[in-house]
Amino acid sequence: MSDAKAQSEAASEGPVRTCVICRKRGPKAGLTRHVIVQTGGHGESAAQSALAADPRAVMPGRGFYLCRDAACGAKFHKFSGWRKHFHGGSAR
Ligand SMILES: [Zn+2]
Repeated sequence: MSDAKAQSEAASEGPVRTCVICRKRGPKAGLTRHVIVQTGGHGESAAQSALAADPRAVMPGRGFYLCRDAACGAKFHKFSGWRKHFHGGSAR
């Protein structure tokens, strides 16, 4: 809804997405979509969740895009920004 500007810019080349690590923008096809998935946990209070690759972009939910830069791939394992979106900022 707030992506009107981005969409107009990308009109000629299709959707553009931003890498969550380096913030570099590129065509959607050049980034891998990841979504938050429930992995099930042992604790009753802490439902485990993680980012899972969704190369076909068929999974519901907010998408987090990772470019193909190896450096970003390495950092992505430690990327935790998505948790804020998922838990609504419940960190202590
Ligand atoms: Zn990147």
